[in-house]
Amino acid sequence: MNIIQCKICKKPFHSVGSKICSDCLQRIDKDFFIVRDYIYDNQGADIDTVSEATGVEKFIILHLLKEGRLELATPGGAGGTMLNCEVCKKPIITGRMCEGCKSKVSETIQKSVEGGKPPAQNKKQDASKPTNKMHTRYDKQ
Ligand SMILES: [Zn+2]
Ligand SMILES: [Zn+2]
Repeated sequence: MNIIQCKICKKPFHSVGSKICSDCLQRIDKDFFIVRDYIYDNQGADIDTVSEATGVEKFIILHLLKEGRLELATPGGAGGTMLNCEVCKKPIITGRMCEGCKSKVSETIQKSVEGGKPPAQNKKQDASKPTNKMHTRYDKQ
């Protein structure tokens, strides 16, 4: 187990892979329903309005967008800078990457798996989920 600083409240906590402590995860889950219900009744509201009306901080809303739990009405939101692809900086409506970069990344992962090298991005995930699964790269003769 690692002790890391929570991304939201900045408190140190024992991490089992998450960057956010369990208190904040619970709070974010609650905030998500508040924000989702508000947006449901107020389609097209911008992040500032949603944040003010619900009392949910903007960075929480942004976090939910990056997790893909909320979507913007237009790519990047007002001004096109609220949410951008982390690779090519293109405005996006949800998640961390645009469709183009997402498929490029999965291609890269595919290639490095084929080459026998584990992709760097997956290291953490692999470590937190140990499996005994085996597979062979050779076809049956
Ligand atoms: Zn926290
Ligand atoms: Zn991109």
